[in-house]
Amino acid sequence: MMDLVQLRQDLVEQLAELGHRVDDFEHDLREPLEADFAEQATQMEGSEVTSALEHTAILQAQQIKAAIDRIDAGSYGECVNCGNQINPERLRVRPHATRCVDCAA
Ligand SMILES: [Zn+2]
Repeated sequence: MMDLVQLRQDLVEQLAELGHRVDDFEHDLREPLEADFAEQATQMEGSEVTSALEHTAILQAQQIKAAIDRIDAGSYGECVNCGNQINPERLRVRPHATRCVDCAA
Protein backbone atom coordinates (compact mmCIF):
# COMPACT_ATOMS: atom_id res chain seq x y z
CA MET A 1 0.00 0.00 0.00
CA MET A 2 1.33 3.38 -0.94
CA ASP A 3 1.67 6.22 1.51
CA LEU A 4 -1.09 8.38 0.09
CA VAL A 5 -0.83 10.98 2.83
CA GLN A 6 2.79 11.63 1.94
CA LEU A 7 2.04 11.49 -1.76
CA ARG A 8 -0.82 13.95 -1.40
CA GLN A 9 1.46 16.32 0.48
CA ASP A 10 4.08 16.08 -2.25
CA LEU A 11 1.48 16.73 -4.92
CA VAL A 12 0.10 19.74 -3.05
CA GLU A 13 3.63 21.15 -2.85
CA GLN A 14 4.19 20.54 -6.56
CA LEU A 15 0.92 22.24 -7.30
CA ALA A 16 1.87 25.25 -5.20
CA GLU A 17 5.21 25.47 -6.98
CA LEU A 18 3.53 25.34 -10.37
CA GLY A 19 1.10 27.97 -9.20
CA HIS A 20 3.99 30.28 -8.38
CA ARG A 21 5.55 29.64 -11.77
CA VAL A 22 2.31 30.41 -13.56
CA ASP A 23 1.98 33.45 -11.35
CA ASP A 24 5.39 34.62 -12.52
CA PHE A 25 4.37 34.22 -16.13
CA GLU A 26 1.06 35.90 -15.69
CA HIS A 27 1.17 38.66 -13.13
CA ASP A 28 -2.52 39.26 -13.43
CA LEU A 29 -3.30 35.87 -11.88
CA ARG A 30 -3.75 36.68 -8.25
CA GLU A 31 -4.92 33.29 -7.05
CA PRO A 32 -3.60 30.64 -9.42
CA LEU A 33 -4.33 27.83 -6.99
CA GLU A 34 -7.93 28.83 -6.51
CA ALA A 35 -8.66 29.45 -10.15
CA ASP A 36 -10.09 26.91 -12.50
CA PHE A 37 -7.04 25.61 -14.31
CA ALA A 38 -9.04 24.08 -17.12
CA GLU A 39 -10.68 27.37 -17.84
CA GLN A 40 -7.37 29.19 -17.70
CA ALA A 41 -5.83 26.74 -20.13
CA THR A 42 -8.66 27.31 -22.56
CA GLN A 43 -8.48 31.07 -22.28
CA MET A 44 -4.73 31.07 -22.65
CA GLU A 45 -4.80 29.03 -25.79
CA GLY A 46 -6.14 32.05 -27.58
CA SER A 47 -3.70 34.43 -26.01
CA GLU A 48 -0.69 35.54 -28.01
CA VAL A 49 1.35 36.28 -24.91
CA THR A 50 0.99 32.78 -23.58
CA SER A 51 4.20 30.87 -23.86
CA ALA A 52 4.32 27.16 -24.44
CA LEU A 53 6.10 26.89 -21.11
CA GLU A 54 3.24 28.52 -19.27
CA HIS A 55 0.74 26.30 -21.03
CA THR A 56 2.72 23.23 -20.01
CA ALA A 57 2.82 24.37 -16.40
CA ILE A 58 -0.94 24.81 -16.36
CA LEU A 59 -1.53 21.39 -17.89
CA GLN A 60 0.80 19.84 -15.31
CA ALA A 61 -1.08 21.63 -12.57
CA GLN A 62 -4.33 20.21 -13.92
CA GLN A 63 -2.91 16.69 -13.85
CA ILE A 64 -1.59 17.08 -10.32
CA LYS A 65 -4.87 18.58 -9.15
CA ALA A 66 -6.75 15.67 -10.70
CA ALA A 67 -4.44 13.22 -8.90
CA ILE A 68 -5.14 14.95 -5.56
CA ASP A 69 -8.86 14.76 -6.31
CA ARG A 70 -8.53 11.02 -6.95
CA ILE A 71 -6.70 10.56 -3.66
CA ASP A 72 -9.50 12.42 -1.87
CA ALA A 73 -12.13 10.37 -3.71
CA GLY A 74 -10.39 7.13 -2.79
CA SER A 75 -9.92 6.11 -6.40
CA TYR A 76 -6.24 6.93 -6.68
CA GLY A 77 -4.18 4.22 -8.35
CA GLU A 78 -7.07 2.76 -10.31
CA CYS A 79 -6.83 2.70 -14.08
CA VAL A 80 -9.56 4.97 -15.47
CA ASN A 81 -9.87 2.68 -18.46
CA CYS A 82 -10.01 -0.88 -17.10
CA GLY A 83 -10.34 -0.29 -13.33
CA ASN A 84 -7.32 -2.40 -12.45
CA GLN A 85 -4.72 -1.18 -9.99
CA ILE A 86 -1.92 0.76 -11.64
CA ASN A 87 1.53 -0.66 -10.92
CA PRO A 88 2.97 1.21 -7.88
CA GLU A 89 6.31 1.49 -9.66
CA ARG A 90 4.60 3.33 -12.49
CA LEU A 91 2.88 5.64 -10.05
CA ARG A 92 6.18 6.41 -8.41
CA VAL A 93 7.57 7.60 -11.74
CA ARG A 94 4.33 9.22 -12.88
CA PRO A 95 2.26 10.07 -9.79
CA HIS A 96 -0.53 11.50 -11.91
CA ALA A 97 -0.82 8.50 -14.26
CA THR A 98 -4.47 7.63 -14.84
CA ARG A 99 -4.03 4.45 -16.86
CA CYS A 100 -2.22 1.19 -16.29
CA VAL A 101 0.70 0.29 -18.52
CA ASP A 102 -1.49 -1.91 -20.73
CA CYS A 103 -4.11 0.77 -21.35
CA ALA A 104 -1.55 3.55 -21.81
CA ALA A 105 0.29 1.54 -24.46
ZN1 LIG B 1 -5.98 -0.24 -17.56
